[in-house]
Amino acid sequence: PSPLGPTPKLVIDLERLAQLPKEKAGALARYAATIQSQRGDYNGKVLSIRQEDLRSLAVIYDKSPTELTEELISWGVLDPEARRAVESF
Ligand code: C2E
Ligand code: C2E
Ligand code: C2E
Repeated sequence: PSPLGPTPKLVIDLERLAQLPKEKAGALARYAATIQSQRGDYNGKVLSIRQEDLRSLAVIYDKSPTELTEELISWGVLDPEARRAVESF
């Protein structure tokens, strides 16, 4: 097992996401809204997403999962801990 503990979850900060300009964050915001709708999970300040979903989002943003993770960290939408969640990709 990793000395740093279990693989962290990918947790999207929905309040931060809502503050970002649509040109940047629109695709991610629509994706997150779809997941919330599928789960019936509307009241959260954060949303835990699947690792698979980060792969799909990377395709949408035409980046590698690592590059997209760095961008989402720079936007404040993902915690820097999320880096460890994509190392296993
Ligand atoms: P599904 O993938 O067939 O999952 C059915 C139910 O299994 C989910 O109902 C949830 O209660 C549970 N489940 C599946 N995977 C996980 C998991 O990794 N963690 C937890 N805690 N529970 C899990 P739920 O939440 O009502 O979702 C209904 C359907 O909505 C899912 O059916 C799936 O098709 C879609 N969905 C929900 N959340 C996500 C997501 O984060 N990513 C994707 N790609 N689809 C999602
Ligand atoms: P955690 O994973 O550290 O999540 C802490 C809190 O962040 C949650 O408190 C909830 O308020 C929020 N949160 C995280 N992900 C989501 C999300 O996708 N949607 C929403 N609406 N809120 C989210 P909460 O609900 O009291 O859960 C406390 C702890 O219970 C969680 O800590 C986790 O350890 C466990 N837990 C709750 N739901 C699940 C689950 O579906 N799967 C697993 N494995 N653990 C869960
Ligand atoms: P979690 O609930 O703590 O689940 C951690 C990991 O356990 C998931 O990582 C997945 O690899 C596995 N897992 C848990 N439940 C199921 C299941 O029903 N079916 C399968 N095939 N695998 C399962 P993953 O996929 O990266 O998801 C990360 C987190 O995203 C989950 O943490 C949960 O908080 C959230 N999530 C993912 N899918 C769903 C979903 O369908 N519904 C809900 N409510 N939450 C989900």
